[in-house]
Amino acid sequence: MSCIFCKIASKEVPSDIVYETDTVVAFRDLNPQAPVHILVIPRKHVSGIHEADGGTGLEELMLSAAEVARREEIEDAGYRLVINCGRQGGQTVDHLHVHVLGGRAMSWPPG
Ligand code: 5GP
Ligand code: ZN
Repeated sequence: MSCIFCKIASKEVPSDIVYETDTVVAFRDLNPQAPVHILVIPRKHVSGIHEADGGTGLEELMLSAAEVARREEIEDAGYRLVINCGRQGGQTVDHLHVHVLGGRAMSWPPG
């Protein structure tokens, strides 16, 4: 398995992990787009939301993203959760991940 996020989840590749459970791992993005930029992934490889199903653990993934925001103390100010899907959606790593972005005001519409 050559997936970089699988390697991060298994700690074969180092990353700054901020939160983990039996089924999810959250780590700081290598190229942060905001003061807080964390990626939350399922441990089990799923290439994207289009491949997710009832066994993927989407509820825990999203609740973990909210927990990460709470721990990073961006909950009160507000933050953004993003899932880029496919090429035009801006997905560059084909392992499902939720971006947790905060620490600054977010603009809308996104670029
Ligand atoms: P996407 O564009 O697929 O939604 O997001 C992929 C994200 O993964 C990007 O924000 C990118 O900076 C981040 N990323 C890519 N490779 C690595 C890595 O090896 N380590 C970490 N921590 N982040 C990565
Ligand atoms: Zn993977």
